[in-house]
Amino acid sequence: MPYTVTLIPGDGIGPEITGAATRVIEATGVKIDWDTQIAGVSAIEKYKDPLPQGVIESIARNKVALKGPLTTPIGTGFRSVNVALRKEFELYSNLRPAKSFEGIKSRYENVDLVIVRENTEEFYSGIEHYVDAKKSAAETIGIVTRTGSERILRFAFEYALTHGRKKVTIVHKANILKYTSGLFLEIGRNLSKEYPQIETNDRIIDNMAMQLVMNPFQFDVIVTTNLFGDILSDLASGLVGGLGMAPGANIGYNNSVFEAVHGSAPDIAGKGIANPCAVILASVMMLEHLGESDAAGRIEGAVAGVIKEGKKVTRDLNPASTVTTDEMADAIIEKL
Ligand code: NAD
Repeated sequence: MPYTVTLIPGDGIGPEITGAATRVIEATGVKIDWDTQIAGVSAIEKYKDPLPQGVIESIARNKVALKGPLTTPIGTGFRSVNVALRKEFELYSNLRPAKSFEGIKSRYENVDLVIVRENTEEFYSGIEHYVDAKKSAAETIGIVTRTGSERILRFAFEYALTHGRKKVTIVHKANILKYTSGLFLEIGRNLSKEYPQIETNDRIIDNMAMQLVMNPFQFDVIVTTNLFGDILSDLASGLVGGLGMAPGANIGYNNSVFEAVHGSAPDIAGKGIANPCAVILASVMMLEHLGESDAAGRIEGAVAGVIKEGKKVTRDLNPASTVTTDEMADAIIEKL
């Protein structure tokens, strides 16, 4: 029986990289019927709505989605469809691994850490306004709940336990944000007592950013609130070759949406030069979620092989390269 999975090609480079990913998945022999749905800017053009009801119904029905990046206008315009999807399906956990691949020239080798980002609360609650019509000030309300914190912190500890990880670092700003970050830290410290086999420590976000750049090897699983997690995961991707190598999973109780960490990259969209690996590695996470560990492992091995050889890699990994998105995907398929 084939799986049915929602496919949202997305905006900008989205169709190019999700097209590459679906070809790679097909080459493993795992049968997937893609329920293709349009969201984001492309959906506004077609349906006058960045998140048509059909997309929601499709994810509700299929439980699993592979999603290309969706553009969110900066400052004005419609609210983020990514945030709306995370809220709609209570995709409370955003799992963002940062793992080195041999052959990528970057600051470090052998980085292997996982960021667990709370995905539905705090400054992404969407509760914000100008205080008056003259826009003399603006207010964003960051809500951190006990339930929301408990579930993401427990997710991080459980993830560490089930994936052979040794340490969980809770990242916060509880010295200044004494209530929101303070609550998160307090809950984390209390929960850690239930997991004596896992070493737990905490870091203030500003120090964390510096420590992650200076010595990423002191970290294993990092758990934090929404905004800090968003920023830290881009930083972590910079340690392993950049956004082209950073996959992510948005996981809820019943539904999961797999995607790259990066956005729609308007600066390179349509040129066929985007690195497809982030969304291919997100597909690896998706296949693992579906119980297709063998296919997942084969794809990861094929990606590793192509990167190690260094010939068929896109220019973000080698500035002298003229290899296209599709050519890199072809090389991965050949390795499979
Ligand atoms: P971005 O992640 O799209 O791009 C940042 C930089 O990384 C750019 O220089 C881009 O060319 C490069 N880059 C990104 N992905 C790449 C890839 N696969 N291969 C090679 N280079 C790659 O960030 P941005 O420019 O700040 O955001 C663009 C749009 O994407 C915005 O509308 C933003 O809201 C949206 N966005 C969406 C998501 C999502 O859908 N989950 C995530 C982040 C940003």
